[in-house]
Amino acid sequence: MFDEQGLPKEVVLERLDALIEADSTYSSGHPIASMSTLPHHIATEVFVNTLEKNAGRLHTFKGSAQVEQEVIMMMGEMLGLGEPHGTTTSGGTESNLLAMLAAREVAKGIKRPEVIAPRTVHSSVDKSAWLLGVKLIKTPVDDQYRARSQAIDNAITENTIGIVATAGTTYLGQIDPIERIGDIALERNIPFHVDAAFGGFVIPFLKDLGMANVNFDFAVKGVTSVSSDPHKMGLAPIPAGTIIFRHPEFLKAITRKVPYLQGASSTQASILGTRPAASILATWAVMKHLGREGYRKVVAECMNRTRLAMDRIRANPAVRAAIEPIMNLVGILSEETPLETVVRLMEEKGWRMATSPLPPTIRLVIMPHVTEEVLNVFFDDLDQVTARAASA
Ligand SMILES: *Cc1c(COP(=O)(O)O)cnc(C)c1O
Repeated sequence: MFDEQGLPKEVVLERLDALIEADSTYSSGHPIASMSTLPHHIATEVFVNTLEKNAGRLHTFKGSAQVEQEVIMMMGEMLGLGEPHGTTTSGGTESNLLAMLAAREVAKGIKRPEVIAPRTVHSSVDKSAWLLGVKLIKTPVDDQYRARSQAIDNAITENTIGIVATAGTTYLGQIDPIERIGDIALERNIPFHVDAAFGGFVIPFLKDLGMANVNFDFAVKGVTSVSSDPHKMGLAPIPAGTIIFRHPEFLKAITRKVPYLQGASSTQASILGTRPAASILATWAVMKHLGREGYRKVVAECMNRTRLAMDRIRANPAVRAAIEPIMNLVGILSEETPLETVVRLMEEKGWRMATSPLPPTIRLVIMPHVTEEVLNVFFDDLDQVTARAASA
């Protein structure tokens, strides 16, 4: 595989093209359950032109260090915090890990630390608990798949070091009752992390559009940290995540010395060392270019298409939406045909499908690449597949 002699550039590129031809493309619309999409063109332009810059060496790349700070400031503003303390990350997984690490470090002296989270939290919360040696206590959800705040309250023990809930669940795009959980966290003096990896670039604009009336961020007093991913609805290139803390001591608790580096590089809060600055610079560029107004338009368009999807779901008696969509994410229940059969038949037609376990649904994430045209073809195929499977 790794030859002694190198190959000419054309041969290499041709072979690579042949290999990645198997990849699904956003332009085909087939990745129907992806939370990422084609980055905005300004982000792509910045990204390819700044590939060599290392955000693990912000002493060398002082300008990029400034840009990172401005991204954190913009995110703080978007999430209702004037003085944010945070870092960019590689995405929601790293952000959740850092939030839970901060909670564990701040809660000194607890020998068997526990974190409480509803059953619908993203799997990265399970992974973080595993990595950190923290016990994760899962609590039940209501019939709309929202956390039951009373169950969280009941699960608190002397070992509890943190609570995690979600604003925009991966399964259904549902928003947990952040205000009620925030009250509990405040009263019991427990750090409360809100995972808004997906919802962070959706809910603020739904609110602007009068399509949501919830507080999910630092507007809620008990919330101590929020994660939000530019590489999802922020239209930034992968890897782009953020974690913001309300209190400086949380950021300090996850900041470590790097003894061989200078100045801004001599401490790091992220898990990664060497990491791209390009995606941070691209995030800055797309946020500056689109502004709130630009993102509002993107969200409004995705919500229009979500309504279209709902019309098609209602028109097919073999399927049903698990909940009325809150954001541009729909969970589809199959009433007759087993879910795996529907998924298999749709995959055969080229769709790149995903399912959720709770409740068992087909996930539809209506990202900007999922156009009206794509949706119509998808639902024509789904109608056919469910009708065929039912008559078989
Ligand atoms: C996508 C997502 C994550 C994980 O983010 P990655 O960027 O894939 O690491 C975590 N939580 C929620 C709610 C998500 O939607």
